[in-house]
Amino acid sequence: MELEARTATLRMAETFVISRGASDEAEVVVVEIRHDGVAGYGEANPIERYDESAATALVFLQDAEGLLGDDPFALEAIGERLKERPGEHAAKAAIDGALHDLCGKLAGLPVWKLLGLRRVGPPTSWTIWLGDPDDMARRAENVRGRFKRLKLKLGGGDGLDVERVRAVRGVSDVPLQVDVNEFWSLDEALEAIPQLQELGVEYCEQPLPAGDPGGPELKRRSPLPIYVDEDLHMLEDVPACAERAHGLTVKLAKSGGIREAVRIVHAGRALGLGMMLGCMNESGLAVSAGAQIASLFDHVDLDGNLLLAEDPWPGVELVDGVQLPPDAPGLGVREAVSHTR
Ligand SMILES: [Mg+2]
Repeated sequence: MELEARTATLRMAETFVISRGASDEAEVVVVEIRHDGVAGYGEANPIERYDESAATALVFLQDAEGLLGDDPFALEAIGERLKERPGEHAAKAAIDGALHDLCGKLAGLPVWKLLGLRRVGPPTSWTIWLGDPDDMARRAENVRGRFKRLKLKLGGGDGLDVERVRAVRGVSDVPLQVDVNEFWSLDEALEAIPQLQELGVEYCEQPLPAGDPGGPELKRRSPLPIYVDEDLHMLEDVPACAERAHGLTVKLAKSGGIREAVRIVHAGRALGLGMMLGCMNESGLAVSAGAQIASLFDHVDLDGNLLLAEDPWPGVELVDGVQLPPDAPGLGVREAVSHTR
């Protein structure tokens, strides 16, 4: 198999703000893997929080072709070879996406069908990124009727997080989820979460810093389910997460792709955990990879391509609030002509 990798810059429709910072653009890596005259494509957004960037991912990818071998269906063996090289989970996810796209095209089947899964998963949430309470309420009002749940980014560090939720609740009846991105202490979480429960919030994602020693106590005392995102990367993290959370937030850019994500789902289910699938600010190419396995999850946050000024890989369709993967071989998305090199 031949592998070609490049970086691509995606422009956000509006500046995206979370507790760690703001961004107008997302820098992703795109992988093309060719076999028998067929090309598969994959994409992921390297996560700065874990010391990955498009540049470090590209270095990894430029040296990865030799790990692929000549059988695109040998996903387990390829995955084992990739795992021998540490880190660079986004680069690995882009390879995994390209291989699944390729296998689906060679088999003439959409990836969800190849994996024996249902096409339709839960409705996606729409992210209301961090801002003043009024501003967040205005943005929630703007999408009324289009999304069946909202995910609010909290962690403003200004004592206004509960007000943010109250303001959005004032304009929206849909289920709310909140993501604190590690910005609360145990005491702040124990004070805020009961108030969030009164406002009808479904669950609270990553209130504490990853690995915070207060995690197990918060799990015991929180009236709302706690989900962990920054605490969870790979299958091996699941047992420790079960001690501090009621649910897991999986992202392909963290797990290294579809195969490890599916393993995490089953391990989490065995421990009685809820499962959520998220994404990064990514195009339809990466979002389609997530959408293929979305039916395995309780909650889905796959709005990455919808937050872009323009999706360079159209094909995923928002139908009744669900990010529906295409009914076409592989990941089923095609690069828009205007973006072709
Ligand atoms: Mg999160």
